[in-house]
Amino acid sequence: MIPAQYQPPLPLDRLILREGAPGAGDHMELDVLIVGAGPAGLACAIELANLGRREDTEINIGVLEKAEALGEHSLSGAVVNPKPFRELFPDVPDAELPFRRPVGKEAVYLLTAGRALRLPTPPTMHNGGNYVASICEIVRWLGAKAEALGVNVFTGFPAAQLLTQGRRVIGVRTAASDVNRDGTPGASFQAPNDLTAKVVALAEGTRGLLSQAWCEWERVVSPNPQIFALGVKEIWETKRPLDRIVHTLGWPLPSDAFGGSFMYPLEPNLVALGLVVGLDYRDAGLDVHALFQRMKLHPLFRRILEGGEMVEWGAKTIPEGGFYSLPARRSGDGVVLLGDAAGFVDVPSLKGIHYAMQSGMYAARAIFQALTTGDPSAARLAEYEARRVRPPRQQLVHRARSAPHAQHAPGVQGRVLHRGHQSSADDADRGAIPGWNDRGGQRCQCEEVGNPGLTPGVSKPRRSAHVQ
Ligand SMILES: Cc1cc2nc3c(=O)[nH]c(=O)nc-3n(C[C@H](O)[C@H](O)[C@H](O)COP(=O)(O)OP(=O)(O)OC[C@H]3O[C@@H](n4cnc5c(N)ncnc54)[C@H](O)[C@@H]3O)c2cc1C
Repeated sequence: MIPAQYQPPLPLDRLILREGAPGAGDHMELDVLIVGAGPAGLACAIELANLGRREDTEINIGVLEKAEALGEHSLSGAVVNPKPFRELFPDVPDAELPFRRPVGKEAVYLLTAGRALRLPTPPTMHNGGNYVASICEIVRWLGAKAEALGVNVFTGFPAAQLLTQGRRVIGVRTAASDVNRDGTPGASFQAPNDLTAKVVALAEGTRGLLSQAWCEWERVVSPNPQIFALGVKEIWETKRPLDRIVHTLGWPLPSDAFGGSFMYPLEPNLVALGLVVGLDYRDAGLDVHALFQRMKLHPLFRRILEGGEMVEWGAKTIPEGGFYSLPARRSGDGVVLLGDAAGFVDVPSLKGIHYAMQSGMYAARAIFQALTTGDPSAARLAEYEARRVRPPRQQLVHRARSAPHAQHAPGVQGRVLHRGHQSSADDADRGAIPGWNDRGGQRCQCEEVGNPGLTPGVSKPRRSAHVQ
C-alpha cells in the first residue's frame, strides 16, 4: 500500500469561494493581507511597512494568525542565521536581536545503540556566525516590531477559505467559531468574516491548506511532489550544562529511514533537543515519538538530561523536498506564497527561518511595486521570484536541490556519503547526486491525472506523484 495514493482530495469547492459568497458576518478591506504570523509573514509585513514609511505611502497591512497569541504555534530548534535580521533591522545591533547566544562549539556524531562516533562537521552543518534562539521569542519580537510600524496583527483568527474573483485571489474568509460537531451554531457562535485586499500573502507554514488549495486550483505543479519530515522536540531544564550544539545521524533510526537529531543549548542549563524523521519510512509500525523517547536514553543525551526536567514539548512537519519540490510559481494574480508554505527549507542544514524571512522581504518589495503601480497582477508579483534568483537563500536551496532525495539513499552510509558529497562539492552543481535525478531518483513516479478543478468543463491534466 502506498499512502500517497490514498490522500483524500482537497475539497476545493469548500476552500475556494467566489467573491460575495453568502455566509460572512463582517467585511474588512485592507491593502495587503498576510495569512500566518510566522517569520515569513511578519518579515513581509515589516519590510512592507518600512517601504511605505520610506516612500511616504500609507499601506493598510493586516496579518491573520490562527494561534491565540503570537508564537504559540511556532516550533523549531532553533539555530538561526542572522542575515535577514540584519537586513531588516540595520540599526539594531546583534546583541539586541531576539537571540539567546551565539553558537560556540559544535559537534556531529554517528550513533550506534551504545556509542557516539564523532564525525568531521560537514560544511552544510557548520553554524559559526549563527545564533541559538527560541522561535517563539523571535516571533513575538517580530510581531511587536510590526505593530510598532502600524501593522494590524489579528491573533485567534484562522483563515479558512480563499476568496476569489475570476482567477484572482482577493482575500480570505475566516473560520466561524463555536460550531457544534453537527455543523449547528454553538452558544457563542461567531460568523466568519471576510477580509479582502489588493494582495494576499500566504505564509501559513508547512502544509498550508490555502497554499495547497491555490496551487491545485491554479494547477501549479513542481518537478517533484513535496515531501515531509516530522520533527519532535522537547525543552529540558538540565542539571548539567551543554557546552555545544550537537547533531547526530544513525541510531535509533532504522537504516532505511532518513533523519537525525539535534541538541542545542538555549542557556547552559536549558536545552532544546529533537528528532527529525522523513515521513516516507517503509515500516508502517515506526513511531517517531517512541523513537525519540528511546533516543534520550543514549549516553550522549542521558548524561545531559539525567536529573533534569522536561518543560515543553511539541511536534511539527518540515517540508523537506528542497528546490525541485518548490511550486513552479510562487505568485499569481493577487497572491504570493512565502516561507514553508512554498517549501523554502534547506534540509541538510536544518534551516528555514532565515529563508522564510528572506522570502517575505523579497515578496514585500514586489508587493510594494504592485501597490504603487496599481497592478497586483501575476506578472507584476512574479518579480518576487525574479528577485529571489541571486540571493544566498536561492543558491542554498538550489545547491541542496536533490539533497533530501539523495539522503534517502539506503542506509546510514548513504546519508553519511551524501553529506560528504555536500561537503566536498564546491560548484554550481552542489547537491546534484549522480544517479539521483531531479525527480527523486527511484522514489517518485509521476503520472498525469484528470482534475476537473472548479471551472465546469475545464479538465486540464495535473501532475500527481506516488512516493515509493
Ligand atoms: C523540529 C524543527 C526544528 C527546526 N529547526 C530549525 C532551526 O534550527 N533553524 C531554522 O532556521 N529552522 C528550523 N526549522 C524550520 C523553521 O521552523 C521553519 O522553516 C520556519 O518556522 C518557517 O517559517 P514560516 O513563517 O514560513 O512558517 P511558520 O513558522 O510555520 O509560521 C506559520 C504561521 O502561520 C499560522 N497559520 C497557519 N495556517 C494559518 C491559517 N489558515 N490562518 C491563520 N494563521 C495560520 C501558524 O499558526 C504559524 O504561526 C525547524 C523546524 C522544525 C519542525
